[in-house]
Amino acid sequence: MEFGPLPAMIGIACHKCYKEEDLELSRCGGCRRISYCGKECQDADWKRHKPMCKALTSLEKNSAAAARLVSLLPKKPSDDLQEIRKLTDEQVDIYFTYLQRQTVVEHSWIHHEPRCLVCTRTEMVMRMETGDVTQRLIPCPSCLRSFCCSPAHWEAAHTLHHRPSADWRDGLSHCQMNTFVRLQAKVDTKHSLLDHRGQLLWVPVRVKSRWVSLEGKTWEGEFDEEICKSYGMPRTIPPSSTFLISSASDTLSMPMTILYGLSKLNEDNTWTRKQTLTVHVLGANIREVSCRLVFEEILHRLPEVNKLELILCGPEVPSRDSFDHEVCPECIARGRSCVLKCAADTYHDFVRKQGDQFETPDLCIAFNSGATQGHLGYTWRTSIKVLVERKLPSLFTAYDREEAEGDAAMLHAAGAAVHPLLGPCLNPWGSQKAFPTAHSVYGFHVDNGWLAGGFK
Ligand SMILES: [Zn+2]
Ligand SMILES: [Zn+2]
Ligand SMILES: [Zn+2]
Ligand SMILES: [Zn+2]
Ligand SMILES: [Zn+2]
Repeated sequence: MEFGPLPAMIGIACHKCYKEEDLELSRCGGCRRISYCGKECQDADWKRHKPMCKALTSLEKNSAAAARLVSLLPKKPSDDLQEIRKLTDEQVDIYFTYLQRQTVVEHSWIHHEPRCLVCTRTEMVMRMETGDVTQRLIPCPSCLRSFCCSPAHWEAAHTLHHRPSADWRDGLSHCQMNTFVRLQAKVDTKHSLLDHRGQLLWVPVRVKSRWVSLEGKTWEGEFDEEICKSYGMPRTIPPSSTFLISSASDTLSMPMTILYGLSKLNEDNTWTRKQTLTVHVLGANIREVSCRLVFEEILHRLPEVNKLELILCGPEVPSRDSFDHEVCPECIARGRSCVLKCAADTYHDFVRKQGDQFETPDLCIAFNSGATQGHLGYTWRTSIKVLVERKLPSLFTAYDREEAEGDAAMLHAAGAAVHPLLGPCLNPWGSQKAFPTAHSVYGFHVDNGWLAGGFK
């Protein structure tokens, strides 16, 4: 994360030291976009920030861009999220048109720029309209993570911001989710638990005595005791480990979703007693490789399985052949192993190249495939065709409801007989860690948050 955490990107934390609480921050006088806690941080950051600052300042001075951006704004506040999303997309397109040769501006910066919830105005657009450089969006006083351009627009946005959201578990409102995400980030920094990729890699070191169905189980029920023990926290009711679990769930959701999918797609429990369990991860990338140790949780919940073989398949995985994964002492003592192989190919190419060598895995899993998003649609359609034709047991997950529904439609169209309990629906073993949806004033996405479809 070269450009730092979201609060630093949107100007509510220092762009250099990332501190945000109890600090008087001052804006960069050039782009007025990011903030610093003092001159020291600003000077130290200038070399990094300068190219982006110049590009944004020149965009702001471009009167043609200003005219187009201002002309897009709706005449009155709207609570139609689709309309708001469309307007946002159009504005972002204009940014990209005028910044064409200035690739120094990080895409995620543009996608996460704070906007008015009901009219999509950004501070830059407000300055373009009025010429007044002191114009500021007004943050929600409770979550500090949503904005409106005026008190009147806050009045219009109030219901939208505070009503229970159907997109997220527990019916939390958008404001409550914002607060959760903010506290989460604070806990992560305070305990400095995260690695340089912003991940908490934690996996309980123990082997369960037998396979127990995950039906009706919860993250806290399954992991509270163990995570409290690992981090020396007292156990409380309600669990004080919630934030830790939510960080850990971001990677643990991979093995847990695999186990959940296997148990739903198989009529009996013979899969829990196999000598070797094989899982193919479709569309894998460096993330699965860097988090590989969490997959041991599969072995830890299946004491009768001796070997877990994972093939990470995707054009973005490192082409290195396989990774020796050191399992825990208890697994070593029992002669168990976890083998990871990489195949830097799309899945249909992988299957084709394997030819007669191809062996049907116990599960093909596609984490957050985004099959219907962007330019990869064609590629995914070809892979899905192979899965359906060969009747390979498969499960697709998605970041949010919209993506899950899109992917589900694509699976249906390919002729997959989708299991009624495997989507599109919330994934009980999706990550508990939410991220604001880029490109949007409203909504969150989570890793494996939704099941798009499972079939065989
Ligand atoms: Zn600072
Ligand atoms: Zn600047
Ligand atoms: Zn507004
Ligand atoms: Zn709020
Ligand atoms: Zn182990």
